[in-house]
Amino acid sequence: MAEPIAELRDVHVHFPVQRGLFWRREVGRVRAVDGVSLRIARGEVLGLVGESGSGKSTIGRALLRLGPLTSGQVCFDGQDISHASRRALMPVRRRMQVAFQDPDASLNPRLRVGESVAEPLRVHTKLTSAAIDVKVCSLLEQVGLAPELRHRHPHEFSGGQRQRIGLARALATDPELLVLDEPISALDVSIQAQMMNLLSDLRRERGLSYLFIAHDLGAVAHLCDTVAVMYFGRVVESGPASTVLDRPRHPYTRALLDSVPLADPTEARRRGLRVLGGEVPSPLAPPTGCAFHPRCRFAGPGCRRAVPPLRRMDNRSKVACDLAEWLRLET
Ligand code: SF4
Repeated sequence: MAEPIAELRDVHVHFPVQRGLFWRREVGRVRAVDGVSLRIARGEVLGLVGESGSGKSTIGRALLRLGPLTSGQVCFDGQDISHASRRALMPVRRRMQVAFQDPDASLNPRLRVGESVAEPLRVHTKLTSAAIDVKVCSLLEQVGLAPELRHRHPHEFSGGQRQRIGLARALATDPELLVLDEPISALDVSIQAQMMNLLSDLRRERGLSYLFIAHDLGAVAHLCDTVAVMYFGRVVESGPASTVLDRPRHPYTRALLDSVPLADPTEARRRGLRVLGGEVPSPLAPPTGCAFHPRCRFAGPGCRRAVPPLRRMDNRSKVACDLAEWLRLET
């Protein structure tokens, strides 16, 4: 198995829930991430999918060490960074970067975009101003933007162009791993395809690894080598993208796939409209047993008793469903 560039081992991220106006007291805990283990091999794209509130973005933040871990281990290139100080994280941060769904989160509206793209270079390198300017021009070209545009402000660009600028900024320090947090969700469909092609090209040219956080399964099928499906803070299915997306074994993965609109009208008519009913449970009142049981059409009494462990089904796939061997989840 290829050497991982990044690995999460049994990571938990819990947030306290506090009440009281003057004397704040803890009245519960939200288990945003509850025992997740993932590994991203060098050059691999791992897709992390699930509905809003499933814990995907918290995993991204945990991997980047942008928030505290409750327990577990985060490793980057073999180095345990779970408790690394800000200072110790500096050289690691240069090697793993993030691009957000909302590029405005990383672009200062008062700065010209060239200055925003140059910012990581000023923090992490000792390049001269002239060398930084050359590099900024090259980065803008790599993401499909004319270098002359570096003198403009973010509001002078479209959403797709701002996403490209955010990507150029993320690439400035020549990272090996990019966390892409819903990078195409806010874009028009026509622009989404261009962005997906750009991400594919950059991966090939730079040998990048991605953690690709998304709820668009079509985009995941296009870009990802492996997929992990998250529900209520846990991974419920993982494996090669072709296996997970073509032959899902967890009812939640099946339901996610069934709720994707079909382009073929004949197939859409045959299958009928299938909507995943219900909502992700409240984190303040988690269901007993399998967290998916209130929405699962196969749920039996045993499903309400114990949380199903993530079990190995073959040498690359894992599923957290007690009935996975017996269910027939055809379309
Ligand atoms: Fe459904 Fe039971 Fe499997 Fe959970 S363990 S996904 S409730 S069949």
